[in-house]
Amino acid sequence: MNLILLGLPGAGKGTQAERIAQTYHIPHISTGDMFRQAVRDGTPLGKEAKSYMDRGELVPDHVTIGIVEERLQKDDAGGGFLLDGFPRTEPQAEALDVLLKRAGRTIDAVLYVYVPHDTLVKRLTGRRICLRCGATYHILFNPPKQENICDRCGGELYQRDDDRPETVERRLEVNQKETDTLVRYYRERGILKEIDGLGTIDEVFSRIKQTLGDVTDD
Ligand code: ADP
Ligand code: AMP
Repeated sequence: MNLILLGLPGAGKGTQAERIAQTYHIPHISTGDMFRQAVRDGTPLGKEAKSYMDRGELVPDHVTIGIVEERLQKDDAGGGFLLDGFPRTEPQAEALDVLLKRAGRTIDAVLYVYVPHDTLVKRLTGRRICLRCGATYHILFNPPKQENICDRCGGELYQRDDDRPETVERRLEVNQKETDTLVRYYRERGILKEIDGLGTIDEVFSRIKQTLGDVTDD
């Protein structure tokens, strides 16, 4: 299955992506994770991306499209993929269409997870990530058993720089218009599936599974 997860920052894309990837055996490809890894590794890509990420702005399209194109060519994406956080602009969506067409592939569904603004802010400012394995937690909604320690690997949890309150509003503002454009883009193509992102993590995942069940039945 070739899937896209669409939604504003904090909608729960990464959280759901982990479950979808495991259940449907497709790789979870997150441009945000790829950029953060490049920043940690200190690569030229990381240095370029960091200045945008710190301000809550989008990394330029040509950079982002380049890394996704490369990633989709890897063997593990040959049997399907789950894109999280890409595309985020119309030119990215158009570039994705072109490169998939060239490979004779199509998108099966775009899962648009929607959540009200005040919930997004609460989710983002309380998010914590494991330094070692990347697992995502929330200080109130999905806390680790032991404060600041990852349940899965024992790694230390940290707060992303761009999840601090001063950057969160800017990120939501920057992403709102682009997300609306992409919702229209994929709705016109008949592949948009709207998912209510409120409720527990399990409830949202159940809605996604039900929706994907309908997609595979089509
Ligand atoms: P995104 O990838 O869309 O930016 P995340 O998956 O990282 O969002 O989720 C943002 C924050 O909200 C995380 O701290 C996560 O633990 C929490 N979260 C995700 N889904 C839910 C949910 N259904 N209810 C409450 N908190 C959630
Ligand atoms: P995310 O982890 O998806 O919240 O992304 C974190 C940051 O990485 C964003 O605020 C952007 O600066 C950058 N980023 C991730 N994906 C993209 C994308 N598709 N286009 C442009 N910038 C992106």
